[in-house]
Formats: sequence, C-alpha cells, structure tokens
Amino acid sequence: MPSYDFYCKDCKKTFTVVMALAEYEKSRPACPKCKGKKKVEQRPAAFFAVTSRKS
Ligand SMILES: [Zn+2]
Repeated sequence: MPSYDFYCKDCKKTFTVVMALAEYEKSRPACPKCKGKKKVEQRPAAFFAVTSRKS
C-alpha cells in the first residue's frame, strides 16, 4: 500500500499514513495528535521535496 505524508497546521506536525488509494480518495486522515481533520493538508512526496539541483 502506498503511504502519504500529511501535515497538521494546528500541531505543526507531519505524519505518514499508509492506506489504500480508494481509502485515501474517500476521506482525509485525522491528525494523530489532535484528532482533527480540518487543519490537515497533504504534503508532497519526499522525493519532490528533496530536489538536488546542480546548476
Ligand atoms: Zn493536529
């Protein structure tokens, strides 16, 4: 199963959730700390964030 990185703006916490794509499309996960969903946003995958530029 793929894993998704999420970020909670309330807790300023990043967390990773492993779930099926169908499950992911149905609902966003709740923050493991505050149990809230409204401030949770998805982070781009790690390989997008870590880009090495050699210019
Ligand atoms: Zn939270």
